[in-house]
Amino acid sequence: MEFNLQRTDENARAGVLKLAHGEVPTPIFMPVGTQASVKALDFSDLLALNAPIILANTYHLYLRPNDEVIRELGGLHAFSKFPRNFLTDSGGFQAFSLNSNVKLYEDGIVFKSHIDGSSHFFSPQKVLDIQYNLNSDIMMILDDLVGLPASKERIRDSIARTTKWAKSAIDYHNYKKQSAANSGKILTNNIFAIVQGGTDKEFRESSAKNLTSLGDFDGYAIGGLAVGEPNEEMYATLDFTTPLLPKDKPRYLMGVGTPRDIIEGIARGVDMFDCVMPTRNARNGTIFTHFGKLAIKSPRFKLDTQPLDSKCSCYTCQNHSRAYLHHLFRAGEISYFRLASIHNLAFYLDLVREAREAILEGEFARFYKDSIESMSP
Ligand SMILES: [Zn+2]
Repeated sequence: MEFNLQRTDENARAGVLKLAHGEVPTPIFMPVGTQASVKALDFSDLLALNAPIILANTYHLYLRPNDEVIRELGGLHAFSKFPRNFLTDSGGFQAFSLNSNVKLYEDGIVFKSHIDGSSHFFSPQKVLDIQYNLNSDIMMILDDLVGLPASKERIRDSIARTTKWAKSAIDYHNYKKQSAANSGKILTNNIFAIVQGGTDKEFRESSAKNLTSLGDFDGYAIGGLAVGEPNEEMYATLDFTTPLLPKDKPRYLMGVGTPRDIIEGIARGVDMFDCVMPTRNARNGTIFTHFGKLAIKSPRFKLDTQPLDSKCSCYTCQNHSRAYLHHLFRAGEISYFRLASIHNLAFYLDLVREAREAILEGEFARFYKDSIESMSP
């Protein structure tokens, strides 16, 4: 995978990722498409939003319809008809969060399906096999994640296991790449490692050192943040974690976050983000705008003929009023979910695009200040 860092402005970075299904300008926000579908939208909406990469969930697609089925149908791109890039997670997070009795072993995790209670085993190799079948453009390795607060012992344990699993994953991936090359093929699936370590500097240092010394990873994710710690702790953790990662590889902050979190992440040298927040909040009636958040169910929008956000040029803002969205939401109309999701994703994608332009112009400090001010209540 090629990653061209075009310009840095203080710690903020603008670059381009070259993947098998098109270029991804960074910093980038990746809409979450859990079931190979971004809720309420179809691929033409995503193309209109100009989303170059979306995220799909390995755990869900493995259980249903199953990765072998998706492989048979040509992989995620042919199956979903989304022609651009997919990043898939390792499935570990859902295996942990959707099951009360996950068992952690030295070589993987055993969990029960939340659909039918059947028992399954994820190992570092197994989750890659699933992701090869999905034909993900970026695959995440299996890691041992820890909710915060956690004991030092538990975090130390998680780093050791994550490192061991990362070694198994990269060895397996190199073997698969070599096997493909031996039969004249090129494996286009890229692989990212995940730095763990809670909010502790020493632990983050040791995790980053362990993983970067394994070499060969195409990018590095920062995991285990936005799991209940205060925002300021997350920002402080990023302050000392991003400098530990190689400059020439993309950095991905997993599952984060609010518009403010994204700007703070970019300011600290993060290149990639994903979060359910824009789409989930849209469905729940919270609209993000350049002037703060709107609760669309509020009676004050009943006769409001303005678009959701006068600075937004998305399909929804070009065609519909706050009054209409207010009505659709209150009436429980299905079209509300699509129109609101289009807007909130447009807001997030515009945010990273504007940040990128500011970095390229050497104006990130001004952009940062203006954005944080406009987001303050
Ligand atoms: Zn809009």
